[in-house]
Amino acid sequence: GVNARYCVIGNPVAHSKSPTIHAAFALQTGQGIVYERCLAPVDGFAAIVRQLVASGYSGANVTVPFKLEAAALATTLSERARAAGAVNTLSFTPSGIAGDNTDGAGLVGDILHNAGVAIAGRRVLLVGAGGAARGAILPLLQQGPRQLVIANRTAATAENLAASFNSHGVPVEACTFADLDGRFDIVVNATSASLAGDLPPLPPAVFGAGTLALDMMYAADPTPFMRFAAAHGASMRDGLGMLVEQAAEAFFVWRGVRPQTCALLAAMRPPA
Ligand code: NDP
Repeated sequence: GVNARYCVIGNPVAHSKSPTIHAAFALQTGQGIVYERCLAPVDGFAAIVRQLVASGYSGANVTVPFKLEAAALATTLSERARAAGAVNTLSFTPSGIAGDNTDGAGLVGDILHNAGVAIAGRRVLLVGAGGAARGAILPLLQQGPRQLVIANRTAATAENLAASFNSHGVPVEACTFADLDGRFDIVVNATSASLAGDLPPLPPAVFGAGTLALDMMYAADPTPFMRFAAAHGASMRDGLGMLVEQAAEAFFVWRGVRPQTCALLAAMRPPA
């Protein structure tokens, strides 16, 4: 039969590692899929999705800057997509377009299974209050941390975000960078500061021996956040594991088969 077709829609999209990751998953699981890159004009997302549906594609991943538009376009949303307010995984079905968000599950999977760090009972600091931070909150809360603190440059955004997640049985608090108090077990940088080579102004005392400091951004070299965290005793981690795990979760959503990620993640890391 004809292979099921998928793609990643973004602008820009040339740098995306998703085609490589999904090709590896397809090979590993024996699932016959084709996965391509799809560059959409900034004002042409909906038209591209219509074309993909009409051409018989089975689904698509969605990246910058279309995740909010994808949520608006989907005819049904998973609970985690609704909580995130954003969609990174679309499934084209006979009954419509299903929207899901696997980014937060990817973050949690990377922390638990690749870093080997528990979230239950721990003190977690989420830095940033944009789309990536929002998508991480429900999956983090479902692991039962002792507390989740959200710190953001624009304090009001963190306050609004914290207030909208206060019904999950875990204390969720907003805090300014300056008022952050004590050490955290897990610190996640969900800001885009690293893209500009910037460091969010975190007090060094949030880090210590035993802290996992994870930057959602992936770059060949450690980001300023990762270097700052490591200088204050934390173990550091970039966003590559999260990227591979969110892809594995999307593959599972589409194909009902969960790929192994360990070997691929190791192969994608440049030798130290
Ligand atoms: P948004 O534009 O939605 O949010 C940006 C956030 O960063 C805001 O909280 C903003 O604060 C903060 N910020 C920006 N610049 C600075 C700075 N110089 N100092 C302090 N805070 C700053 O971006 P996204 O949430 O979509 O993406 C954030 C990051 O997450 C990106 O680097 C992206 O690559 C990464 N990501 C990684 C994924 C993975 O699989 N590894 C998946 C998804 C995202 P303010 O509100 O004050 O403007």
